Amino acid sequence: MGEDLERLKRRIPLLEYLPRHNWTARRLGAQPEFVGLCPLHRETRPSFYVNARKNLFYCHGCGRGGDLIRFVELSLALPFRQSVAYLQQELAPAPVSELLEQTAAFYRLQLRRHPEATRYLERRGLQDSALIDELGIGYAPGGKLRRHLATRGFSFDLLLQAGLINSQGRDSFCRRVIFPCCQHRQIVNLYGRRVPAPFGPGAAFPHRLLPRSKGGLFAWESAGQFSTVILAEGLFDLALLWQAGFRNTACAIGARLTATQLAQLCDRPGRQVCIVFDQDENQAGQQASRQLARRLESAGVTARIVQLPAGHDPNSYFVAGATAADFAACLQQAQ
Ligand SMILES: [Zn+2]
Repeated sequence: MGEDLERLKRRIPLLEYLPRHNWTARRLGAQPEFVGLCPLHRETRPSFYVNARKNLFYCHGCGRGGDLIRFVELSLALPFRQSVAYLQQELAPAPVSELLEQTAAFYRLQLRRHPEATRYLERRGLQDSALIDELGIGYAPGGKLRRHLATRGFSFDLLLQAGLINSQGRDSFCRRVIFPCCQHRQIVNLYGRRVPAPFGPGAAFPHRLLPRSKGGLFAWESAGQFSTVILAEGLFDLALLWQAGFRNTACAIGARLTATQLAQLCDRPGRQVCIVFDQDENQAGQQASRQLARRLESAGVTARIVQLPAGHDPNSYFVAGATAADFAACLQQAQ
């Protein structure tokens, strides 16, 4: 028990716990000591001291002091055992979905603050701000993410484990436009598309997902209600198709479908799937389309492959000036 308590106190240092509960302090010179207003009583001159090395507090105003557990007992008026239980619960890792929600919300805020991000969306042909909101698109400017999430109680280790930061604490989505991937209305992953720097070489890794399942098809909750579904490869393809009015579009985020995604396409008898993958020079997209069409057909789903002019994906096709009618004509001719 004593050992457990020592570990508990080490894992939540007073200097992490107190600022999380709105205590602000200043450091006393080069000492490992910090001073601020006492959170246990009203005062105007700071008399509450925390020694970081000893992990103890003492208030010269009210004469109370001790360790973290003592602080919880006093501040929340809880008996010892309940204070320990409260701290253990505080330590329990927040569910990753909560972490991803907070991260996506942070990125959404950043999108409006960084013109380079909105300019990039415009260059990719995405101008409809209501649609940008609806898709929950955000921007990772790099920096600030770790600090922001720390104030919300998420530990460095959890962010690292989730792949949101690297071991130096830097945002791993740095300079990327972010699409949150949802399943059952919960964010299960984040997709980031690198915004190219105005000068210099292109990025080595333009696409990025967190190292966890990409979940089901993007936007399946809405697209899956249609009897004919358009299946795109990339999220910008989906965004531009939605913008042009083709709301029955879902996206696999890549040309290779997971078992979950395949099962979703086959979950309704009589469904028709129009596959509109990239027209790659090396034929990768076309090959993936044919393979997928065969798998769908053998599961009883009607599959059609949509041909766009050579070298185009839906995104570039619309950016090049194609209209909804042009795309509808391609759908008509799909085989
Ligand atoms: Zn005090």
